[in-house]
Amino acid sequence: MDVKTADLARVWHPFQQTSIYRDRQLIIRGGEGPYIIDDEGRRYLDGISGLWNVCLGYSEPRVAAAMHKQATTMPFTSLIVFSHEPAALLAERLAEIAPQGLDTVFFTSGGSEAVETAIKLVRHVNLVRGCPAKQKIVSLHGGYHGMAYGALSVTGFGIDKAAFVLEAPGSAQAPSLYTAVLEQRDMDAAEAFAHVRRCIEMLDASTVGAVIVEPVMGVAGMIPQPAQFLAALAEFCALAGIFLIFDEVATGFGRTGWMLAADRAGVRPDIVVLGKGITAGYAPLGAVLIDRPLFDLCQDGPPETAFMHGFTYGGHPVACAAALATMSVIEADGLCEKVRLDGARLAQGLREAMPPAARSVRQTGLMLSIDLLDPVMGGFAAPELGAAVVAEARRRGVILRTTYGGFTLNLAPPFVCTSADLDLLASVTASAVTAVWTP
Ligand code: PLP
Repeated sequence: MDVKTADLARVWHPFQQTSIYRDRQLIIRGGEGPYIIDDEGRRYLDGISGLWNVCLGYSEPRVAAAMHKQATTMPFTSLIVFSHEPAALLAERLAEIAPQGLDTVFFTSGGSEAVETAIKLVRHVNLVRGCPAKQKIVSLHGGYHGMAYGALSVTGFGIDKAAFVLEAPGSAQAPSLYTAVLEQRDMDAAEAFAHVRRCIEMLDASTVGAVIVEPVMGVAGMIPQPAQFLAALAEFCALAGIFLIFDEVATGFGRTGWMLAADRAGVRPDIVVLGKGITAGYAPLGAVLIDRPLFDLCQDGPPETAFMHGFTYGGHPVACAAALATMSVIEADGLCEKVRLDGARLAQGLREAMPPAARSVRQTGLMLSIDLLDPVMGGFAAPELGAAVVAEARRRGVILRTTYGGFTLNLAPPFVCTSADLDLLASVTASAVTAVWTP
């Protein structure tokens, strides 16, 4: 079988059916900067950085060299058995960027595993510290935390769960800014916080172990949480003995214009979950930053306090080497500042070029989204219109993606885009929308 045939016949493409995927099939052979190149040599500007993770583009020599060096020196040992230099050095480096005190790290192989780790750790710690009732996890309507069972149980999109019998760990989702977007109304920080507080009180705060939130709700449509909401949540959780988990899988490593979105908001959670951009997409890796007292509780107590949890590939040495190089490049090249400037430029370009039917542009750093409205009926566009925009943009050489519900375009271009790349992204996005909207 040739590559295309084997791909269609044998590969499960997540979240979709071959009947639809068949028309979208694209075999990527290479990449250069923010561009990907298909098997026929066509170049596309990647407006979504792979899946929001290839922040340094597709040809960053410093990351590739670090990985090559590690793979040819010591390709693998598991942290379950031994240790290795890249994990220890990366833990040091992460401690430098972590919110105050969150200077211990649990490594995983990706975002969902990191969320699982955070949830299990909260439950374990609450058992160890004599609060066995504190097991429930509160999350937000529209929050996305991954597809493993535990992560899925706190993910706030009902449709993802419909097929699975979930004995979720007593989780509940509070209405959120995403709820307000769906209702096409505004929700301020006070209202958003009131919903979470009500949800916790209804569950009984003494049974709630943690609240997990994304500082910018990515899959829901790049919806930034107001800093006041996060601050109020942190204060409330601290008083109620509830751990606050920031899921920074999407927002971490410069995506919002800050190394961590927690810095941007000036809020200190108890646990931070990381993934995606940590290696710029060059290798699978996740990490959980954990407040020092929780580490001490589990590491220095009697045997039953040990956290019995781990993954063979968690903290893979080649991935850790990639992460160290990624962090150096972000810092050395001043990419956080660049993301802040570039995000503003791209948002302005989109706002100026977009047809009226699609003007609502949300932007935090290089996380952007555009809600597509139905040109005739008002309200949100049907998913087919969103899919048509994505197809049209691809014909014009730009990769876009709609998110949940199919009516929101999410953009998250690589940090290495030039101004010309960003202007191209804005103009092609707008012209694709216009072309689809114009019968
Ligand atoms: N958390 C957030 C905020 C995410 O955006 C994602 C993935 O999109 C995940 C967790 C899950 O990460 P992964 O797909 O690497 O398991």
